[in-house]
Amino acid sequence: MWKVTIDREKCSNCGACLESCPGDVYEEVNGKITAVNQDECHGCHTCEAVCPEDACFIEEE
Ligand code: SF4
Ligand code: SF4
Repeated sequence: MWKVTIDREKCSNCGACLESCPGDVYEEVNGKITAVNQDECHGCHTCEAVCPEDACFIEEE
């Protein structure tokens, strides 16, 4: 299992994580990119790699 976290202080809401995630983890909720479907994460680290603000990160649980 992977836990996906977005640091709201850093996130610019650019959408890069949502566009790049192959697991459909991210969705826009009330105008903010949110890691809604964490069960879909398979730990590829793509979102971390593409995030321009170092705002999203994943941890194994
Ligand atoms: S690690 Fe991969 S599957 Fe998990 S949220 Fe990031 S881009 Fe999506
Ligand atoms: S890629 Fe980073 S800055 Fe852009 S919406 Fe995702 S978490 Fe926020």
